[in-house]
Parts: sequence; structure tokens; C-alpha cells
Amino acid sequence: MKDQSNFIKTIMIQDLESGKHKEILTRFPPEPNGFLHIGHARALTINFELAALFNGKTNLRFDDTNPEAEDVRYVNSIIEDINWLGFKPDKVLYASDYFQEMYERAVLLIKRGLAYVDDQTAEEISATRGNVTTPGVNSPYRDRTVEENLKLFNEMKEGKYAEGEKVLRAKIDMASPNMNMRDPVIYRITFAEHYRTGNKWCIYPLYDFAHPIEDAIEGITHSLCSLEFEDHRPLYDWVVEETQMESVPRQIEFGRLNIENTVMSKRYLKILVDEKRVTGWDDPRMPTLSGLRRRGYTPEAIKNFIISTGLSKNNSTVAADMLEAALRDDLQLKTPKIMGVINPLKVTVTNYPEGKVEKLTTFLNPQDESMGEKTIYFSRHLYIDRDDFILEKPNKHWKRLAKGIEVRLYNAYFIACHDVVYDEDGEIVEILVTYDEKTKSGTDFNERKPNGTIQYVEATTALKTTFNLFGPLVFDGEESFLERINPNSWEVKEGYIEHAAKDIKEQMQLMRIGYFIQDSKSEERVLNRIVELRSSFKK
Ligand code: ATP
Ligand code: MG
Repeated sequence: MKDQSNFIKTIMIQDLESGKHKEILTRFPPEPNGFLHIGHARALTINFELAALFNGKTNLRFDDTNPEAEDVRYVNSIIEDINWLGFKPDKVLYASDYFQEMYERAVLLIKRGLAYVDDQTAEEISATRGNVTTPGVNSPYRDRTVEENLKLFNEMKEGKYAEGEKVLRAKIDMASPNMNMRDPVIYRITFAEHYRTGNKWCIYPLYDFAHPIEDAIEGITHSLCSLEFEDHRPLYDWVVEETQMESVPRQIEFGRLNIENTVMSKRYLKILVDEKRVTGWDDPRMPTLSGLRRRGYTPEAIKNFIISTGLSKNNSTVAADMLEAALRDDLQLKTPKIMGVINPLKVTVTNYPEGKVEKLTTFLNPQDESMGEKTIYFSRHLYIDRDDFILEKPNKHWKRLAKGIEVRLYNAYFIACHDVVYDEDGEIVEILVTYDEKTKSGTDFNERKPNGTIQYVEATTALKTTFNLFGPLVFDGEESFLERINPNSWEVKEGYIEHAAKDIKEQMQLMRIGYFIQDSKSEERVLNRIVELRSSFKK
């Protein structure tokens, strides 16, 4: 963000140079009605990084004005996710702390003849709003006196009316070409219990009224929000001005981020959770920040990805590949290399003595020797991956093992297969090989070239492991949301990893298979595949 120029940065520079503001203050305003997703990472990055560029500050403010959907559980998860990404809010604030002030500002609007209590039903209000080509129709209650409005609004607050019986509307212009300005509802009645204010209030402000007041109370200088609020900006400015807020924040919109084959809406993510299509908000397939964390994504990869998508005024949809590329770039540098087999095939080294287990040493990551060394084991009993063996070498492109063929085992010896063992169904269940002592890793053996290099694990020291392999949760398409859910997004395999990984809790690279991490919710050894080593999108 530092080196890129963008339209928001330009505005901030102007406002500092002109003396309009001495300090930049932004805010990230999530509604605590779900977990944060990767789209929110863009809003977070924009707010925090831009303010930080100018030594400014960013508040985390919970926009908790809808008691029905909100919960402290979401508040906690949002705080945890923001910490994990490494952003430090200057203050953690709650819109619900401003309910009294918002109420008083609404009373001020009434006193100034700029708001009225409407008795029409929601259907009537919607039916008389008009549309883009037709002006709306004034409510029959629009010309109530200030005294009557004050009395009724107070009675709404006192709980004298049922939900939907009355609302408070701003009195602006029913013929405005901007539909948002056609006397928008600014307060509604609801008897739901609020997770912070309990039953203190039974009237709640609507977003378009609440948000500008929240920003102004906090002295936010630049209120950055996604593009769908562009048409709401005139109303935002109207509220700040007509409620006579001292501080005047400026709303600036940026494009929303979408990713192919990725659900980016709390509403839909909540359906997946509620309908038990996933194991929870932090399911490793979910594009939530907690899901990505459990999956093994790093905060650096997420932030680099966000920055690489640029900051555009327009909504953008990027290939999922881009996020994975940022992840690989990051993991490649910091992960140890471990051998594992996800489709184990038994190997017996017939010329190796029974009972002997040999120790060999190599680097955890040959590209970064500072990560240290690991011990590799070798014995008469090994496992290789089923996909690395074929009975008959089909062509010169087969660079793995086959009967009569010799390959190198990473960091160990060359082995050549001379026979196979079948079960009653005719399936190969074991292969018999010989090893050549002269080919030991680390010695300069060049008498002959092996037909490729494959990974293996020594059977008696190997760690039994469950592997979770993930695919996209939902596909893009025309069908309804539930029909687009991928039924095969979670595949489970049972295999082994080498002993050296015993105490690794962080991300690791399983050679030739992918990046993996221990599942944080499992007591057993369960590895989640974070991402494959190479992009599979070209398939
Ligand atoms: P959703 O549509 O998933 O429910 P939301 O916008 O309703 O998201 P909020 O809690 O209101 O969720 O979001 C907090 C902030 O994050 C808002 O400023 C919103 O504009 C921004 N935001 C949400 N989704 C995206 C996205 N995909 N790209 C960029 N910004 C986003
Ligand atoms: Mg929202």
C-alpha cells in the first residue's frame, strides 16, 4: 500500500496539506452478526494500512444496532481475527454505546421539523416510495406537528406501540431522484433483547441514520466503505449536517472484493453453518478468517494477497489462484520439508536385515539450513505412495518406480523393485525391492542414474496420520446457492508421515504433496492440506 498511489490516499494527502485534518482517523465497522471473511480483510487492510501510512489511527467499532442478529460470540471472534491479522485498533467501541445520543439527535431532527412519526405499515411505506421514474407519495402523517411527533416518538421509546405499528422517518423529499432520500425510515420498534443493552431500548436506529452519527461522534475523518453505499452518501451527509454534528466525516467508497468459487457474504456463510453443510464458521473450507487460519493460511499471505489485488473504486472478482499463489510464496520460505504418504503401499527391502533401523541426517529445509536438521530412518520395512508405483513402466515419461526399475528414495538409497505381492482380489498390497548400499544419500554415487526420486517413510517409526484434502465449497454458477455446494469438498485419507514431524505444530511442506498443518481442533494427528504445491487450476 505504501508504494501504490490510490484515490483514497490522494484525498488524505490533500486533507492533511490543506489543514482540514491534523490526523487521519478511520474505523472498521463490522456488524457482529457473523464471522469475518476474506472480503473483510480488504476493508481491514484499507482502513488500517491507510491510516498507518499517515501515522493516523483506526478504531474497531461494532456496528451493533440490529439486536435480532447480533451476539457477543461474533464480537469475540472478530477481535480474535483482527489480532491474528496483526492490526491494532486504537479503540474498541460499540455503536450501542451511542444509543442515547442517537435518540437525542433524532429528537433534534423532530424539533427542527425534519423527522416525523409515520403510522403506515412497512408495505404501505414501500408501495408509496415510487421508483426510479415515478416520484413517491407523501405519507398522510408527514405533516404532524412537532409536538405530536415528539410525544409519539417518546411513546415509541416507552414501549407503547407494537413492532411495525409506527416508525420514525426523516422528512427529506419524496420526489428525490435518489430513492434513499425519499423520507427514509430512521427508527423502528423491536422488542428483541440486545446482547449489550438488554431490554433498555425497544427502538433502534437504522444503518443510514446510525452510521454517520457513529462516525461523527468518534471524529472519524475518512469513513471508508464498500461501493454499495455510494447512493447512500447524500443521506450520510444529510444526517451529519441536519443532526448538527460537530465533526464532519467524509464517506469514501471502494470496490468490494470477490473471489471466484468463493462465497463472500455472511448471509450465505451463515446458511452453510445453520444447515450444517460445514462443521462451523471455522470449518477449514470456509473463506472466513477463522476458517483460513485453521486451514493453515498465514496473515502475511492474506495481507499480501489483498495488497496485490490493488485498491480500486470498482468491485473486482479475482481468481482463487491469486490467493493460493500468495500463500505458496509465503509458505515456501518458512516451512520445513517432511516426507509423507497419503496412499500407503507397503515396501519390503529384501536385502536389508530384519530388526535394523538406520538413522540418516538431512536438513529440514535444504533452501534454509537455519531451520536445522532432521533424522530420517531407513529399514527393511517402508511405505511409499501407491501413485508412485506401477507394475510396468508405461513410457519414458514415467519417472517413478515400476517392476524392474530403480528409483532414488529422498535422502536415503536407490531401490529397485523385483517382485510384487497380491491379495485374493488381485490387488497389489506389497512390493519387494532391493537397495544398493553404495547409493547412500550424501555419497557421490554416479555410476548410474535412477528413474526419478520419490518420498517414503520408514514403517516402524512413521506416524500414523489422517489427511484432510479440501476442494472448493461452492461453485459459481446460475443454480441456486444450495445446488452449487460441492458435495466432494472434503476428502479424508489415512497414511503416514515421517517421524521427524512429530513435534511440528506449524505449517509444513509434505514433499510432492502439498502444504499441511495440524488441525487445531483435533486431538489426534490430523493434517489439513492448506494448498497443493502447484496450482491445479489449469486442469
Ligand atoms: P456481508 O455482505 O458479508 O454480510 P457486510 O458488508 O454486511 O458483509 P459488515 O460487518 O457490515 O458486513 O462489514 C464491515 C465492513 O467490511 C464494511 O465496511 C463492508 O463494506 C466491508 N466489506 C464486507 N465485505 C467486503 C468485501 N467483499 N470487500 C470489501 N469490503 C467488504
Ligand atoms: Mg453490512
